[in-house]
Amino acid sequence: MQVLLVEDNTLLANAVMKTLKAAGFSVNHVDSGKRALTAIRSTKPDIVVLDLGLPDLDGLDVLRSAREQGFSNPVLILTARDTTSDKILGLDAGADDYLAKPFEIDELLARLRAMERRLSNVRNPFITIGEVSIDTSSHEVSVNGESISTSRREYMLLKALMESANKIQTRDSLDSKLYSWGEEVSSNAVEVHIHNLRKKLPAGFIQTVRGVGYVVRRQAEAG
Ligand code: CA
Repeated sequence: MQVLLVEDNTLLANAVMKTLKAAGFSVNHVDSGKRALTAIRSTKPDIVVLDLGLPDLDGLDVLRSAREQGFSNPVLILTARDTTSDKILGLDAGADDYLAKPFEIDELLARLRAMERRLSNVRNPFITIGEVSIDTSSHEVSVNGESISTSRREYMLLKALMESANKIQTRDSLDSKLYSWGEEVSSNAVEVHIHNLRKKLPAGFIQTVRGVGYVVRRQAEAG
């Protein structure tokens, strides 16, 4: 994931770059609005972290120009202007997120990870494990390329298990996902849905971890 950091404060820029690189992002840094526009055109970064108070152009103008030129990837505004109307201006100019200075570097990282997830869902909505594939944009489930029908709740549980492959999902965490969809959940709801899902999926695809919960394993990593 390629991040373009636009920030004229060298100390802050160095600190942010160091942290992002340590977190596995690849980072380019520019310190002015004009250089930002050139870099956006030439390197098409996946995510832009944009300071508003730049020495030449206003960050908002950089953002508007980039959007006008068709740059559609996420932009996170980083700024000391933190009134509500500033945030609205930023979002209206085409920002995807907004973080007010001073900020916690961990919060910046968390927001970038969230952007990264959204981006990869848009680019590749499919999660495939073994013979089972789900399309997170259309909510379709297929086994060996054959589409199968699942209820909304079955799909949601399967997605939760496949998104976190190799990690055991406790009944409680799956329960809370059903709740978060505004469903009335009976005490054995998760078991019932898993039972029904298993009838539609290859044998052993959803494994029970006795007394704990369920897990879907990727073969390569399980071996
Ligand atoms: Ca600045």
